[in-house]
Amino acid sequence: MQIDLERYKRQLSIEAIGKHGQQKLFDAKVLVCGTGGLGGPALTYLTAAGVGNIGLCDFDIVEPSNLNRQILYNYADIKKQKTNIAKERLEKFNPDVKFKVYPEKLTEENTSDIFKNYDVVIDAVDNFQSRYLINAAAYKSSVPLVCGAVCEFEGILTVIVPKENTSCFQCIYPIKPSAELTSKTFGILGAIAGVIGSMQALEAIKFILGLHCLKNKVLIFNGIENIYRIRTISKRKNCPICR
Ligand SMILES: [Zn+2]
Repeated sequence: MQIDLERYKRQLSIEAIGKHGQQKLFDAKVLVCGTGGLGGPALTYLTAAGVGNIGLCDFDIVEPSNLNRQILYNYADIKKQKTNIAKERLEKFNPDVKFKVYPEKLTEENTSDIFKNYDVVIDAVDNFQSRYLINAAAYKSSVPLVCGAVCEFEGILTVIVPKENTSCFQCIYPIKPSAELTSKTFGILGAIAGVIGSMQALEAIKFILGLHCLKNKVLIFNGIENIYRIRTISKRKNCPICR
């Protein structure tokens, strides 16, 4: 398919992108796990940038309580499969991009096999259990992982690169919280998920372009105080995932 570069004119003029960088984006394969509050903005900006191959992984259906933050969906989508709706919307937004859907729950059996097909994975899920699973599978498959999470007015962001032996999600959170801790049990403001989800797209794009990204660091955003803090994360000696 012949791609109309006019669409990308304003980013082609960025020195760090140019035609060479845009080709890298067209050739890239990014998987987004979770197509909700974080996944929606991440997917939208990856699609807008012309990331050529995008996977969407989510087994959920749209519920009314999703709509304060999950911007790919509306009332007419309630009870429909999220990945199918998201794919439909994003295809209309940018027909240059190829999408593949995984309307299934990630498990220890299937996660690494899915991850192996991608250059970058974005963790945009809403529960700790899935985050630990995704972190372990990313290390096992040697796939870079952009991890983002939000709670009320705060958000965090980090990039994990197994091939460079960086610290991992379990180095930040070595003690697993209870399985009940999900977005269904704590508050989320859509605009905060929008900030972190957009930054996840940005980190993935920068990684693909070979630019600086948040490796061995965690960004903590406080939306009340308008403060970003960046902390260095040291690898935990006994981390079961990345040691
Ligand atoms: Zn670790």
